[in-house]
Amino acid sequence: MTARSRVVTTLPMRARARAAQLPSTGVRDTRDRALRDLRISVTDRCNFRCVYCMPKEIFGRDYAFMERSELLSFEEIERLAAAAVSLGVDTLRITGGEPLLRRGIEDLIARLAALRTPDGRRPNLALTTNGSALRVKAAALKTAGLDRVTVSIDSLDDARFQAINDVNFPVSRVLDGIAAAADAGLGPIKVNAVITRGINDDEIVPLARYFRDRGTTLRFIEYMDVGSSNGWVLDEVVPSAEIVAMINAVFPLEPVAASRPGETAKRWRYRDGSGEIGVISSVTSAFCGDCSRARVSADGKLYTCLFAREGFDLRALIRSGVDDAELRATLARLWSVRDDRYSELRASLPNVPQPERIEMSYIGG
Ligand code: SAM
Ligand code: SF4
Ligand code: SF4
Repeated sequence: MTARSRVVTTLPMRARARAAQLPSTGVRDTRDRALRDLRISVTDRCNFRCVYCMPKEIFGRDYAFMERSELLSFEEIERLAAAAVSLGVDTLRITGGEPLLRRGIEDLIARLAALRTPDGRRPNLALTTNGSALRVKAAALKTAGLDRVTVSIDSLDDARFQAINDVNFPVSRVLDGIAAAADAGLGPIKVNAVITRGINDDEIVPLARYFRDRGTTLRFIEYMDVGSSNGWVLDEVVPSAEIVAMINAVFPLEPVAASRPGETAKRWRYRDGSGEIGVISSVTSAFCGDCSRARVSADGKLYTCLFAREGFDLRALIRSGVDDAELRATLARLWSVRDDRYSELRASLPNVPQPERIEMSYIGG
């Protein structure tokens, strides 16, 4: 089986026509959504086999991961990011697979930290990681120019954490990594927890308590039907409303306004002033209306939705020798024809197996 999907290398005529009307900076899609975030996957490999993301039965010994020559080089990623930033992207998030497995990742961070938005600001630079290498890498990442990290941790119970990552990685080493990131100044640190019914829903309050006591923002993610390999069923999704109610019963909460348009997490703060949590309700409360994110896979395919089946082959375009202006114009065209709103449509999809979609480990979340 392959997690990759169909690739597009040419643009429809209507895209070319729209490109002619592009403003010099900023680009909006067919639903008037701006392009603000670019998520860049730097590898499809990972040292974990989280059961909901890279189940061992599929991502086993003979799984065909990308060859090194297939990956975008740091120079290619830098060109692409520069084009995106010139079009209004103000947040670059590095992801994977596990991004800290990519050799020399600090060099890429340093290149991206040197980019400037059209009005002279540095884009926000963030990275999502499983935290396994953070203890070793945190200081170097900060020195290179990384602003903040998000660390994924679904359980505080060591046996359960090891069962979820399925490679017996101890939770204490991830917690050490979070501490190292805080010491290095990579903050404010966010922690992501995917909650799955029957797996870790009894840890909602313990997780909230632990990170509340340490002043770390915890974000609960609804288990999503990304990819085709994790056997997702709706019954395993714990709705955000349920999560908020459980925490509110112990630590009273109140809603917080979004800090910017397109924010994925709905924010809640503890009424006693001891910080906040977020809930990402992709399944029960779609936020496509504000979605400002584009994603690039490690082999250079651009996806305008997490649930897309088709990507545009930017690597082929770059390696064909296009100049920066053409690269930028192509990105703008691709965004300008975007019409995605999968999560809003999910409920109306027929209850039959859907065609194969890209995997989370390929696109990076
Ligand atoms: N390896 C890094 C990590 O785990 O943070 C970065 C890549 S991982 C694909 C990015 C995020 O996606 C993680 O927080 C992970 O928990 C989340 N994720 C993976 N599969 C998911 C699913 N089916 N539903 C919801 N979140 C998922
Ligand atoms: Fe690896 Fe992250 Fe997927 Fe877990 S969620 S398997 S750490 S890519
Ligand atoms: Fe954005 Fe697609 Fe997710 Fe909707 S389903 S929020 S369009 S990535």
